[in-house]
Amino acid sequence: MSIKVKNPIVEIDGDEMARVIWHMIKAKLITPFLEVDIRYFDLGIKRRDETDDRVTVEAANAIKETGMGVKCATITPNAARVKEYGLKQQWKSPNGTIRSILDGTVFRKPIIMRNIPPAVRSWKKPIVIGRHAYGDIYKCAEFVIEGPGKAELVFTPADGGEKRVVKVHDFSGKGVVMGMYNTESSIRSFARACINYAVGEKIDLWFGAKDTISKQYHGFFRDVFAEEAAKARDKFGAAGIKYRYLLIDDAVAQVLKSEGGMLWACMNYDGDVMSDMVATGFGSLGLMTSVLVSPDGKYEFEAAHGTVVRHYYEHLKGNPTSTNSVASIFAWTGALAKRGEMDSTMDVVRFAETLEQAVIETVEGGVMTKDLMLIAEPKVSKFAHTEEFIDEVAKRLKGTLGH
Ligand code: NAP
Ligand code: MG
Repeated sequence: MSIKVKNPIVEIDGDEMARVIWHMIKAKLITPFLEVDIRYFDLGIKRRDETDDRVTVEAANAIKETGMGVKCATITPNAARVKEYGLKQQWKSPNGTIRSILDGTVFRKPIIMRNIPPAVRSWKKPIVIGRHAYGDIYKCAEFVIEGPGKAELVFTPADGGEKRVVKVHDFSGKGVVMGMYNTESSIRSFARACINYAVGEKIDLWFGAKDTISKQYHGFFRDVFAEEAAKARDKFGAAGIKYRYLLIDDAVAQVLKSEGGMLWACMNYDGDVMSDMVATGFGSLGLMTSVLVSPDGKYEFEAAHGTVVRHYYEHLKGNPTSTNSVASIFAWTGALAKRGEMDSTMDVVRFAETLEQAVIETVEGGVMTKDLMLIAEPKVSKFAHTEEFIDEVAKRLKGTLGH
């Protein structure tokens, strides 16, 4: 008997090894159990090239319309990929395109297993990272200064008001200079997205910046966060959680000493760096999930890892692989649980929980892929191949559901 999902889910297919496991997951863990209206978009690199990347925009709009998406990892082409796949051009990052259409914020959360101890002994609960993926050095203007001269920051008001000029530095020789910016509306949306996520998950919200040094730029971020947190005081109270502002260096130290269980909101660069640190600290990229949340409550779930190219080349040669599918399975369960919650269909939520439980019990029962075998405690003597692992999860799932 299959469980009916009331409203549609947008499925976004991807590339390489991630695509291989994606198809196995869908065939073995999703479609046999659910009656679900899947709106399928193939964002594999060939299809994006054929459609001049229109398919990416269509997929993002479908998420906007239905409110729910689940995405496989995709190639962001560089020069080498253009050659490898004979592409018309270096198409933009699909994640970047989808993120800007949904105006979303990305939250990354690790999956915790009893027998996969984190690198940091005190960590017991997930540390979720929220990255402000807009502006700062990612949209900066910069150049190398070739010789002596004066660098200035100039602002020309659109209303014809007086120009503002600030000296950056008097150069006596070669050097570098950079100008970067952010906008109040983007920082405010980010703060709100973080507040909503923290309230929804009932976890404390931390925000760190360097306002002692950058009194205006970082201070502006601190003030916007403080204002938004103050507006949400009642929601924080009802959820039993706190907002905490820290200096960024203190935040790094406190996170390492903590037992986890918070949302750490990061400025763009901090989030880029710290999300890799936290992912590695929790074990494997194969255990890191990611969700894009728009300010009006649309969701797109995915694994944080990429297309796992090295494994794909082995797969193409006909060699067995041991690619971790846990984060991709959790992308599906994340989307299903949220869909069920939005639709008030508890049986769908329960199915998602049952599948997650089957995955955790499989790993905790000693069946895992090679990346986890290397760090499991207690040690296991052999690793499962890609498909073996998924089959084992399917077996447990069927057992629990009585199929
Ligand atoms: P990656 O695919 O995440 O792989 C990096 C390495 O991490 C792998 O070679 C593998 O190490 C290990 N790894 C990652 N996921 C794993 C898994 N599920 N199971 C086992 N090991 C795993 O990152 P990348 O090599 O930087 O990027 C490859 C492609 O993915 C690029 O074309 C990039 O554009 C794309 N990408 C897409 C997304 C996305 O769509 N969200 C995100 C990141 C990258 P070993 O080889 O040592 O086993
Ligand atoms: Mg990074």
